[in-house]
Amino acid sequence: MFLTDRKKPKELMYYEVLARRSELKTAEQRSLQYLTSGFEGERQFDAVFDAVGHDNLYIFRDIWLELDGAAVQLDSLVVADDTLIVNEIKNYSGSYGYDNSEWKVRGQQISEDPISQVRRTAGKLVKISYAAGIKFTVQKSVVFVNPYFIFESSDGKDADMLIMPNRLKQYLRSLGNYHCGRSAKMLAEEIQRRIVDNPWPLPETDPKRLRQGLNCWKCGGYDLEIGRFATTCWICRYAEPIERHIVRTALEFSILFPDRAITKQAVCGLTGGAIGLQTIQKTLRKFLRMVWGGNRTHYIFDVMDLDRTLNNAGYASYYEHDPAFMFQNHPRIHKVKQNFL
Ligand SMILES: [Zn+2]
Repeated sequence: MFLTDRKKPKELMYYEVLARRSELKTAEQRSLQYLTSGFEGERQFDAVFDAVGHDNLYIFRDIWLELDGAAVQLDSLVVADDTLIVNEIKNYSGSYGYDNSEWKVRGQQISEDPISQVRRTAGKLVKISYAAGIKFTVQKSVVFVNPYFIFESSDGKDADMLIMPNRLKQYLRSLGNYHCGRSAKMLAEEIQRRIVDNPWPLPETDPKRLRQGLNCWKCGGYDLEIGRFATTCWICRYAEPIERHIVRTALEFSILFPDRAITKQAVCGLTGGAIGLQTIQKTLRKFLRMVWGGNRTHYIFDVMDLDRTLNNAGYASYYEHDPAFMFQNHPRIHKVKQNFL
């Protein structure tokens, strides 16, 4: 069973929002691509794991652990009796070579080395054994999920640590042979105690480079017709209820400026004054946690996620037409579900 959710990394959310509101520099564009592909790969891994079943295992996904005085990121950590299984997930696509402990793409050496990465992580995990006085062994592998990954190695080094896409299902199924009893539970609790927040700060956003205004959820365009209850894109005709648009803009603000308070003025500023302060205040009160402070009243997202924020507050706008945002108590949910069945 999965013990932790796989959330979209905050760095990925940051670049996605930045891309909506500014021209990305080449390095930023590369980061966005790299993070998007990595996250997609991890989701594929989870989907295959779901398909083969994992009820008898404890699985941590996408966690940061305090190990040996440093914070270490783990894509997937399976806990069984007396065993930890650490998987570094890679969504590589195209031709890769691995010889003399060096990775090459089209003959060019690359700096990333997932094998030594997973080896370092495993080495640090072993130290928990001494610190906590629990005996266990650590197994490690690099898992390649992309069917378009082509791998060549003339010396066959470290082959036992590499799981190729065509063997992924079989590999994850084989984990089902592990037993998960009292010792696994203790070990999982020890891991749980060591989970920390991602320690890396996001880059600082320069407010001057940001485009203000309302953008279309679907095509990203800024040419919108703003009605009383919904905005409609002039380019793709996508309509979005004002409520959702405000919450989404507040979330964008919070991702771009994690250290600044979310106030009605700040959100209004990011909309370029397109929506009035009163409407913004009413919506923020409804969907976010309010911290009262007179003129300095601000709001907090309990989860940095649009769907969950809306859903948790019982979002059921009559003006919602996107099935992705019609939750349990939406007035037309049954009709929509019928059409999909
Ligand atoms: Zn549009």
